[in-house]
Amino acid sequence: MPIFNDKFLFLELQTIHFLKDSHKHQGLRNQLATVLKAKGIHDEAVLAAIKKIPRHLFIDSSFEEHAYQDKAFPIAAEQTISQPYTVAFQSQTLEVQKGDKVLEIGTGSGYQTAVLLEMKAEVYTIERQHELFKKTSLFLPKLGYRPKKLIFGDGYKGLKEIAPFDKIIVTAGAPYVPNPLLAQLKIGGRLLIPVGDKTQIMTLFIRKSAKEFEKHELGDFAFVPMLEEKN
Ligand code: SAH
Repeated sequence: MPIFNDKFLFLELQTIHFLKDSHKHQGLRNQLATVLKAKGIHDEAVLAAIKKIPRHLFIDSSFEEHAYQDKAFPIAAEQTISQPYTVAFQSQTLEVQKGDKVLEIGTGSGYQTAVLLEMKAEVYTIERQHELFKKTSLFLPKLGYRPKKLIFGDGYKGLKEIAPFDKIIVTAGAPYVPNPLLAQLKIGGRLLIPVGDKTQIMTLFIRKSAKEFEKHELGDFAFVPMLEEKN
């Protein structure tokens, strides 16, 4: 056998090991879904996504045992993977329908992206940290998750060339509501954005007409800050 083939086999084995999912993990995911249900998550598509997505593969392996607790965790570039409850709450509040065109600001680990894809949305996602952008662009397809576009850019600007969107979700704490995001929403569409500095108020905008938006404040959350420009 040529050496090349052995090397190939070795790499394949490494990949399989890295992407390991087990009955134990499945059990922990089912428990997590039960915890989220008790906290008010009732959307069956969201709960099914939580039960299905191997969250432990989205975080650093040293935290693997904590992956299915309802907690946020550090990922690369001083960022965090949002708490499962927050991901579930945002996904439920967006009322994602099959085929919805969804813009996500703050790809991060790609976990929220995976939830949106499990809900059968067409996902466009923007990340401003190059390190995370690279890592997550390589990682998501390994699990079979394919957003329409994963973009390295500044989410404050939205994605004009693809707009309008049915739904826009911001997964970082915004100091203010960026106008381009409101402008890039379809009529009837929803923008869900945590607004504030140290802690944020989860704010939902529903576009009623070209000029009218209904605003709902949905409680306090804590996110890493939404920063301007790329890095
Ligand atoms: N949805 C992610 C949450 C990651 S935390 C997950 O499930 O893991 C928020 C992310 O927003 C970070 O990765 C951060 O780098 C990114 N971010 C911050 N400001 C941004 C901006 N202006 N545009 C795009 N992404 C931004």
